Amino acid sequence: MNQIILLPEDFISHNRVLLKGRKFEHLVSVLNSQRGDRLKAGLLNGKAGSAFLIERNQNYGILEVSLTEDPPPPIPLTLVVAMARPKSFKKLIHYATAMGVKKIYVIRTWRVEKSYFFSPVLEEDFLREDMILALEQACDTILPEVFVRKLFRPFVEDELPLISQNTIKLTAHPYSNAHFPRCVNKPVTLAIGPEGGFISYEVELLESLGFTTVSLGERILRVENALPAIIGRLF
Ligand code: SAH
Repeated sequence: MNQIILLPEDFISHNRVLLKGRKFEHLVSVLNSQRGDRLKAGLLNGKAGSAFLIERNQNYGILEVSLTEDPPPPIPLTLVVAMARPKSFKKLIHYATAMGVKKIYVIRTWRVEKSYFFSPVLEEDFLREDMILALEQACDTILPEVFVRKLFRPFVEDELPLISQNTIKLTAHPYSNAHFPRCVNKPVTLAIGPEGGFISYEVELLESLGFTTVSLGERILRVENALPAIIGRLF
């Protein structure tokens, strides 16, 4: 945790915060923070800044906060990703959030196992917790929006044209001869496939909307590894 994310209910006055539970534990056992220490803090979906630990006992800490700074700018990438196995999905959400992605469409493609959609990792509260940990890691405050779309074709035909309007449209596919562009300075809509990959029909439907099918190289990476590699290359 490089920055404590605060929720409105943590505030006991306009500039004082009562820290309990996980965040307080972290403060004590990992950071070994002492009275008078200065920490980084940010209000969820709000401003960031500094916090002084003005009181600490066995059960809680009190911070005096000054939150006047903007969080880092988001990266201009909309992610369209096939639902992955829950363990991978959790990592993917963490890396996407930590790297500044703010819009994520989780879709069902032909090779996605139906049962993945029943996993708790997709439940709002779990997702939120995972994303908050990533915001704390990356010193950001803005939660990404996550949308689940279980029907591939209606999503691609009816929603994706608007979502991807005025963006560079890319489908990540290891079997393409074309390579990912580097250091683009425009917004990107990126489609990433499931563990089993996109089927030809899906790649072609995306191409019909103007998506270019591109590869990162001949090594096939897990979704959660492919995403940071792609973001690093694009931005
Ligand atoms: N078994 C699948 C691999 C899927 S890897 C197949 O044979 O297609 C999961 C997803 O990560 C892929 O659909 C793709 O979107 C992305 N990915 C992984 N490695 C990649 C690479 N080298 N180039 C482009 N995309 C890649």
